[in-house]
Amino acid sequence: MYIETLKKELKERKYRMTPQRELVLKVFMEHDAEHLGADDVYRILFSKKHSVSKATVYRTIDLLVEFGFLRRLEFGEGIYRYELAKKDKLHHHFVCKICGKIYEIKESYLENLKNSLENQGFVFENFDLKIYGICPKCARKSKKNPLRRK
Ligand SMILES: [Zn+2]
Ligand SMILES: [Zn+2]
Repeated sequence: MYIETLKKELKERKYRMTPQRELVLKVFMEHDAEHLGADDVYRILFSKKHSVSKATVYRTIDLLVEFGFLRRLEFGEGIYRYELAKKDKLHHHFVCKICGKIYEIKESYLENLKNSLENQGFVFENFDLKIYGICPKCARKSKKNPLRRK
């Protein structure tokens, strides 16, 4: 479904759907919850023996952001991460400061917020809230570890 939409978008803007563009988008579809960086995408393609250069990966990602297929995220690590910009997938990001994993936090109030804004005439596009803390896994581990007990 994403691939078909991308093909259409590209055609409208007089771009071609190249195998590389399709591959990059597919990586994001297959790793949807992982918030990959450009280097991760390159590594995944490389490990699957696809010959796509790093420069192509970067350029393709920029194009996908520009066309609204990917959302660019920044978690203060000095790199950008990306996720599919699905409109039906409102969520916040919880960043674990111990393992670094990024969790998606879905809250029903987000839908209400969106509806309320739209009722007031605002055009909702996106929001960017990050919550920092310790994930359940790391919290459990740190409790078990006697060295960490206060
Ligand atoms: Zn953690
Ligand atoms: Zn996300």
